Amino acid sequence: MKGIIIGGGIIGLSIARELQKAGYTITVIDRQRVGRGSSWAAGGMLAPQSEGLEPGVFLDFCLESRQMYPSFVEELERETDMSVGYWKSGIFCPAYSEEEEEELKRKLETYKSMGLSGNWIDRETLEGRYPSIGREIRGGVFYPDDGQVDNRLLMLALERYARYRGIELVEFNPVKKVVVNGGKFKGVRTATGLVEGDFCIITAGAWSSEFINLPVFPIKGEMAAISSKPKDMDTVFFGSKVYLIPKKDRKRIVVGATEEKVGFAEGNTVKGILQLFTGLRDTLPYLVEKNLLETWYGYRPATDDLLPILGKTQVESLFVATGHYRNGILLAPITAKLISQLIDKGITDRYLEQFSVFRFREG
Ligand SMILES: Cc1cc2nc3c(=O)[nH]c(=O)nc-3n(C[C@H](O)[C@H](O)[C@H](O)COP(=O)(O)OP(=O)(O)OC[C@H]3O[C@@H](n4cnc5c(N)ncnc54)[C@H](O)[C@@H]3O)c2cc1C
Repeated sequence: MKGIIIGGGIIGLSIARELQKAGYTITVIDRQRVGRGSSWAAGGMLAPQSEGLEPGVFLDFCLESRQMYPSFVEELERETDMSVGYWKSGIFCPAYSEEEEEELKRKLETYKSMGLSGNWIDRETLEGRYPSIGREIRGGVFYPDDGQVDNRLLMLALERYARYRGIELVEFNPVKKVVVNGGKFKGVRTATGLVEGDFCIITAGAWSSEFINLPVFPIKGEMAAISSKPKDMDTVFFGSKVYLIPKKDRKRIVVGATEEKVGFAEGNTVKGILQLFTGLRDTLPYLVEKNLLETWYGYRPATDDLLPILGKTQVESLFVATGHYRNGILLAPITAKLISQLIDKGITDRYLEQFSVFRFREG
């Protein structure tokens, strides 16, 4: 059976890998080099608790994927002989005001009642740990089970996996149209012609609504990276003003991220970068001495209810896995598993039901 995957981001390549393992012949088509969309732009946090998700199906989904990460990464590293910078660094969420302190403490109690870990760290302790701390910071919550991965290395590893294992990568070839015949998927029309297959999965991130009527749209995020030394930081800071992600090589701290609904507006803006570095200065002021290494931006694939869209569509043999918004790096392992099980064995479950595209057509 031949499957076509439109979009070689973390979602497309992770699904391709699972289906290849299950014996399918897979072609991934991308309009640029694979792995250079949102998945390249991301911060790489694996942060269901630090994101402050409320209890419910989506939090469960995120927690399950976080749990899958160590084995997902370990297996991929073995297969590709590459390291992808997975680091269970823990994530610290600073409170910049009394209201934030109350809210963070409420969430902490909720998570503890669910058996999840976390603890409050007061300002005095932080002052003993860091050369300087933003004046407004009152303390914060530390979530030891949240962590991070180097998403760029992860994309390179997934690309290497695909190239080693015979997954066909058709790059720099935009898909123009999904071709349907009698309600059944037939093929995709690309810039260079028709590619036929037995089934297709749309994993084109923020661009997914180009091929099918889906409520998917981009939320732009601007980012920066600064130089770092190992002693500068050893855990992620994730607050309402900024997040600071020291990468495992300890040479870089990623500073993120703005959130704007401005379509596919290009470029870094002065106001975006100003917001990031004001947030950095208000959090760990000593970092303003560091060198600026890079700025970039990307587009989170958002949906009307900010939840992913996964599984079957109205067209037979046409599937979708998109809309992962702020958590696509985190959600790659579970998405790949569920979509490949659905295609290979017809297995469906509560997540696929909850995140089905058909939820938008009801009522
Ligand atoms: C600034 C920022 C920070 C983020 N931080 C985090 C984080 O810390 N943790 C986390 O879990 N998530 C984070 N995210 C979210 C995460 O990056 C996304 O949810 C995830 O990368 C989505 O993956 P994807 O494979 O669906 O999309 P993408 O990686 O965007 O891949 C889609 C692919 O489809 C291709 N494509 C598009 N149109 C076509 C076409 N016509 N024909 C062929 N191919 C096409 C694109 O070229 C691209 O390669 C962040 C996102 C941003 C922007």
